[in-house]
Amino acid sequence: MANVAFIGLGNMGGPMAKNLLAAGHKVEVFDLVPAACAELQDAGAGVAGSAAEAVVGKEYVISMLPAGKHVAGTYLGEDGLLARLDSSTTVLDCSTIDAATAREVGEAAAAAGIGFMDSPVSGGVAAAAAGTLAFMCGGSAETFEKARLVLADMGKNIFHAGPAGAGQVAKGCNNMLLAIHMIGTCEALEMGVRNGLDPAVLSEIMLASSGRNWSLEVYNPYPGVMESAPASNDYQPGFMVDLMAKDLGLALEIAEQAGVDNRMGQLAGELYRAHQQAGNGKRDFSSILETLKD
Ligand code: NAD
Repeated sequence: MANVAFIGLGNMGGPMAKNLLAAGHKVEVFDLVPAACAELQDAGAGVAGSAAEAVVGKEYVISMLPAGKHVAGTYLGEDGLLARLDSSTTVLDCSTIDAATAREVGEAAAAAGIGFMDSPVSGGVAAAAAGTLAFMCGGSAETFEKARLVLADMGKNIFHAGPAGAGQVAKGCNNMLLAIHMIGTCEALEMGVRNGLDPAVLSEIMLASSGRNWSLEVYNPYPGVMESAPASNDYQPGFMVDLMAKDLGLALEIAEQAGVDNRMGQLAGELYRAHQQAGNGKRDFSSILETLKD
């Protein structure tokens, strides 16, 4: 079992750290919010007074922070964690951040001889609690092998996407595609309903035809078609519009930096931002269907 520091104990990091404890790892935690640390202490974790204190003598440092600026602030610079670690530590940042910052931190870690891997996740709070997250990792093959030992206790699918930053690129590609097929699914269902079709019958037809996709199959956006989907529960998340809008912003940056013509992704970004600004940020992302009804 490993000696782990876990930094960032929010909606995702809290349950992830608990799963490491449940698997028998020794975990010391830090979060800016004392209540978040106290909850982990109750679950058996040690609590440090700072991130710098938490990482002393650890084999693994794992972080789950809101955005790139928090990750850069935690790891880079004279006071950053990379300046305090050595090659005996493996650093796994599971936050969803911009690929440029992930590459920058990865390169700084490599220059200091430290194994770093951007390891963003797919799957929300429920998957974090159940230990069924998917990890998309960017870093060296050697670091990936070490990372699997702890990631396997928090998730069930662990992918090596490529070098530093590749995990964030994979996540951006996936979430851009998810937004596009969710909006397309909503448009197809609404078109059928306005022409007198039953959305459940139309869904069944498309699921057995070439329009089949994940949004239709496990997350039907039309209320009443799929009992377990957020659409049938007043669009309670699930996966919030705020997070989809954030992830699309990151995906569009990745596309722009590579000079990719991604008009569908850009339009999805515009539609989700407008939906967010209309006061739907905390609702499930499948509520984008409602914009078609206005
Ligand atoms: P959250 O806001 O609930 O948690 C973030 C935590 O980080 C907070 O507890 C905050 O106090 C702490 N924090 C911020 N700066 C810190 C610092 N410098 N040092 C220590 N702690 C600090 O966010 P979340 O929902 O847990 O998401 C975390 C990351 O996971 C984000 O990048 C998000 O995009 C990604 N993600 C979230 C979901 C989801 O469904 N919530 C799904 C997939 C990925």
